[in-house]
Amino acid sequence: MEHLPKVRNGAVAKRMKKKAKKPTLLNMLPEDAIVEIVSQLVSSSSKPFADLYSLKSSCKAFFEASKDKMVKQRIALERDIFGLTWMATDKECMSVLKSCGDAGNAEANFMLALINIFKKGDINRGAEFLKRASSSDHKAALYMLNILCVRLQKHNPFAEGNSHTLKADQRIFDDYDQLKWCREKVLNAIRLVTWNNWQDNAVASVRQCNNSNCGIRGWDCRCFCSKDCEWNHEYYEFCKAT
Ligand SMILES: [Zn+2]
Ligand SMILES: [Zn+2]
Repeated sequence: MEHLPKVRNGAVAKRMKKKAKKPTLLNMLPEDAIVEIVSQLVSSSSKPFADLYSLKSSCKAFFEASKDKMVKQRIALERDIFGLTWMATDKECMSVLKSCGDAGNAEANFMLALINIFKKGDINRGAEFLKRASSSDHKAALYMLNILCVRLQKHNPFAEGNSHTLKADQRIFDDYDQLKWCREKVLNAIRLVTWNNWQDNAVASVRQCNNSNCGIRGWDCRCFCSKDCEWNHEYYEFCKAT
């Protein structure tokens, strides 16, 4: 069987050779190809968890492939976060999110951030997950990181025992639509995690900039005197939108 394609995993290779007595198209495929097929499917499906579940139960090769890091990294969590919560207990959800997050799935790290901040009150750990997600270009995570920084600068921390060395990453958003999209996404995700809205009763006491030209709407943009002012303003919009 020298012409058998190279496979990654020795155990799988042996199994495939054994089964080769009764060859099917699927077990002729190299494991990498099967992983790629499964990854493609779960990254483009509108119900990735349901699809992954039926794939896993359909055959051994798919079952093995579903455990691959690439599948966890690429699964489109954001399309089916309800699918995940319906199909699993809280504990199972956390373990799915953690293994996807470890594999570099930005959406998983974003959700883990919100769970740590709002359910466990662990802001520092939450911020770590936000940084991890935003470093893989998850815009809503970057947005949340900035909102969190404004809140922590303005008020006492909303949970005791957190020491805050959080530094904002005030990267510019492409445009206002993207900013609004992130605002909506973050608000919805907070609702999903907490069953509650974001609240800041002290938002009215947040001091505005003294410069009367700050935040004036120009021809096609709003002009602020600094990134701090811009994010302060966005913090208001965020609190108002809940
Ligand atoms: Zn200003
Ligand atoms: Zn405004």
